[in-house]
Amino acid sequence: MTSPSTAEILDALEAGEPLSVSSAGALIEDPSTGANDRLNALADAERKTAVGDEVSYIVNANVNFTNVCYTDCKYCGFYRRPKDPDAYTHDDDVLRGKFARAREFGVTEICMQGGLTPAISLDRYEEVLRLAREEIPGVHMHAYSPAEIDHIQRKTRLPLEVILKRLKEAGLGSIPGTAAEILVERVKKMISPMRIPVERWCEIIRTAHAVGIPTTSTIMYGHIESPADVAEHMGILRAIQEEAPPDSGGRITEFVPLPFIPYDNEMGAEFDISDVADLDYIFRIHAVGRLFFKDHIKNIQVAWPKIGIAAAKKALSLGVNDMGGTLIEENITRESGGEYGQALTVGQFREAIAAAGRVPVQRSTTYERIPEDDPRYRPPRPGDDAMLGDGASGGEKLLSLGLPSKI
Ligand code: SF4
Repeated sequence: MTSPSTAEILDALEAGEPLSVSSAGALIEDPSTGANDRLNALADAERKTAVGDEVSYIVNANVNFTNVCYTDCKYCGFYRRPKDPDAYTHDDDVLRGKFARAREFGVTEICMQGGLTPAISLDRYEEVLRLAREEIPGVHMHAYSPAEIDHIQRKTRLPLEVILKRLKEAGLGSIPGTAAEILVERVKKMISPMRIPVERWCEIIRTAHAVGIPTTSTIMYGHIESPADVAEHMGILRAIQEEAPPDSGGRITEFVPLPFIPYDNEMGAEFDISDVADLDYIFRIHAVGRLFFKDHIKNIQVAWPKIGIAAAKKALSLGVNDMGGTLIEENITRESGGEYGQALTVGQFREAIAAAGRVPVQRSTTYERIPEDDPRYRPPRPGDDAMLGDGASGGEKLLSLGLPSKI
């Protein structure tokens, strides 16, 4: 049987048929303007049906409690060896200071990930969650990637369910769906041989869902993958979502495509990748994500620190409904050579969304709308720029301002 053309796939989508993995791959592969225009219009219409015209953002802070890591991911410019002069593992005092700064900023979420170091025990992972919630009562802890959960299990040999329940009890609200890179073993082995395999990532995410912990989902693309690999990855995420227990509260809340940043890490040089993926390819992945996940994952997020605010605004017209977070202290993208600064103020988010002709709305981690009369609503405030520090650039290119990409 011959494969359908992209025009036929788009016709079938218009007729309301679901998108198969192979057809998703074909759409991601087709660079022709005619196909892309139709794809974007369909994705935009699907977005409107699924979530309306509001574009959400979250007021959050990124806290990295250690940059010491033995995993050597080739795409990572963040990690340090224990004896490196700029290696750190923060103690309670430093962490309290970071949480206090986040509280002052008015965050509803702390996003927390760190390197994988044997020096940190499960008890310490629990303590840090409790510490954050002591400093910021009610804050949602979005923390500990599947790689960190795997690391904890290898260290403690406790069952995954036990670890996840203990972390939940200590205040873990949700898990970032990072460490997936691309869920195709052949590619994953080439770009991050020390990282957890595909099956292990899936097992941890499924177990988190089973114990009632929501997760996000990501893909890192724009390196050596093919469009079919991207589609295969999406197929795995959709299958996981279909299996999520309906009443546990554990499910994928969003899909976040993350283009590989090739500048300050080994992987760019090893695979001779000198630039971030072509913007049209980036846009097709967002648009196909919207159409592929449909009712399964209704929130498609654009990663503004990776592509800049101008491209993020454009993505709002092709299926995207979420702009991510204010991300005070975003380190991992920045230290891998990200060019677009580390943070946006609430005012900058709202202006960018309104300028794209859409309605800005603050949300919680689990996509609950936070209206202006909710005590958690965080209005723009004078002085927000100053709180963000030198690395903030409003999502414009730092290099164009004469600042270095690695600060
Ligand atoms: S991406 Fe995470 S696990 Fe990999 S080297 Fe960096 S800090 Fe370590």
